[in-house]
Amino acid sequence: MFKNLLLKNIILSSLYKTNKTLLSHQKSRVIFLVLSVFFLALLELIGLAIVVPVVNIALNPSVIERNNIVQFMYCYFGFSNHANFSFVLFNIVIFFFLAKNILSTITSYYQSESTSIISGQIGQELINSYYKKDLNFFNNVNTVELLRNVTYLPNEFTSFILMPLITFFNELLISVFIITSIALYNFQIFIFLLFTIIPAFVIIFRLTRNKVVINNLKRKKMTLKLDRISNDFLKGYIDIQLLNKQEYFSNEYYENQKKIAQSNATIFAINQSSHKSIELISILSIFLVLSVCLYNKSDNNSMLNLMTFFIIASYRMLPSLNRMIMSLNNIKGRQYVFEILNSQFSSNTDIEKKNGSTENIIFEKEISLNKISFSYPKTNITVINKLNYKIKKGKTIGIIGESGSGKTTLINIILGFLSPLSGEIKIDDEVITNANLKSFRRLIGYVKQNVFIFDGDIIDNIAIGVNRDEVDIEKINHVIQLTKLNELVKNLPHGLNTHIGEQGAKISGGQKQRLAIARALYHNAEILIFDEATSDLDNETEKAITDSIEMLLGMKTMIIIAHRYSTLKNCDEIIEIKNGEISRMIDYETLIQENI
Ligand code: ADP
Repeated sequence: MFKNLLLKNIILSSLYKTNKTLLSHQKSRVIFLVLSVFFLALLELIGLAIVVPVVNIALNPSVIERNNIVQFMYCYFGFSNHANFSFVLFNIVIFFFLAKNILSTITSYYQSESTSIISGQIGQELINSYYKKDLNFFNNVNTVELLRNVTYLPNEFTSFILMPLITFFNELLISVFIITSIALYNFQIFIFLLFTIIPAFVIIFRLTRNKVVINNLKRKKMTLKLDRISNDFLKGYIDIQLLNKQEYFSNEYYENQKKIAQSNATIFAINQSSHKSIELISILSIFLVLSVCLYNKSDNNSMLNLMTFFIIASYRMLPSLNRMIMSLNNIKGRQYVFEILNSQFSSNTDIEKKNGSTENIIFEKEISLNKISFSYPKTNITVINKLNYKIKKGKTIGIIGESGSGKTTLINIILGFLSPLSGEIKIDDEVITNANLKSFRRLIGYVKQNVFIFDGDIIDNIAIGVNRDEVDIEKINHVIQLTKLNELVKNLPHGLNTHIGEQGAKISGGQKQRLAIARALYHNAEILIFDEATSDLDNETEKAITDSIEMLLGMKTMIIIAHRYSTLKNCDEIIEIKNGEISRMIDYETLIQENI
């Protein structure tokens, strides 16, 4: 029941969820943030509180006689002149403001650094969580959405949930402090405030919150759509140009931008209107307080004091209340951040298992596939059916089969991207499990038809994920020689340091294949898997593959999924897959004769 109550209240539920989202080492940073925000607010309050008495002393010399503390200070430090005393007080105030502002600047720096670090860590956790999922997850999700999540979500969490939560409590504390001072100073005014400002605050929040939430959600939906359109527009250059659909995409882009602008404008106007409403209420209260004083026939001096006090109090309380409403609206409008973070983090059950792996695998004899079966989720078609096969170390195996027979699925199972429903894969006598999957993958080089080219130069693309100063250039040169990439490198304007463009737009299909093989060799892959997803290999790509296979024959274990049978010439064994089973073994000559 307590939990129910907790989850119903937006502030309490957000506190609860924030606590669950933050890692324990981040919590100490949050404590620092809370303390620093309170500390800055306290300094500001002190600053505000010391100006009035000092001005009062300067304008009213009689205060020195009337006020015991002031009189004590005046005598203790041996002042004989009211002007000198006031001048020293001015200097103290100026010095205080100077120190306060220096401290504020330093603290603000650390505050901003802390929130950035927390969002960076949450982003890192999120991006890691995606790598802990299997291929089915990526097959069923829109990558633009994931990209948005890792780019914007962490910052949305810190800027629109964590900081507003801290701000809310800070401003609440300040308001309570000011209201208590008012209560002590003049109880009547306190009662009056209790029935004006506080209900006004509640009404403004209630009137604005749903609109802010709705517009925040609209904006989120629209920005996601905008990212998708931009992504399609930029990546689909050739097709969109040929189909002459540029105008359609460009208009879609603009329409979405317009809707985002409308949502932004609505949120901005709501925030402004709540600010202005509070200002109005404040002015109203000042005149109401004045009226109370007039009707109570207070003397002018005490009325002036009361009004100065009240105006200064409301000068600080006005932004306080406004910030509280804005914080509440921000928190309420970004509840989806919790939903996304929660769904990503909680579904990471495989992560720890896979990443905690340190066991080493030794490959000396063979890879065995034992009774492997597999179906895709939410389907009841058996794509791989109790498949048995052994691949001896150093042998080259060809896999053929009609499109849809299960070749790619089988390779994804071997690579550990899909988990078989039953059966096991063994290296020598060791079963591949999550505990040794990482080590097993280190043995594998995967050469897809559609090679992934990283946005960098040749060295980056061969030595992927190795710091530049740790790259073994001699080894890079060696694998470049082996894969016959030296001609390409010689003709590039900056040799190995030539940027080959996003997705390798500047190099040919065959060169990409060679690069992928060089990549595998650089990382000491023992098992090479060549995956030709389609039969439309150009001659150059085909030659790149056959060259490499010939060169590596007997030295590496190779599995070739082939559509064009010429790449299978040197295979020790060729198997045909049909309906997820090995339907037959076939030799190269027979295969060629059958397909003439
Ligand atoms: P191949 O590589 O031999 O062309 P695949 O392994 O890609 O065949 O596909 C085998 C079967 O699994 C096909 O019937 C295909 O429709 C199905 N399939 C492939 N990927 C998925 C997926 N992500 N979800 C559901 N079914 C799939």
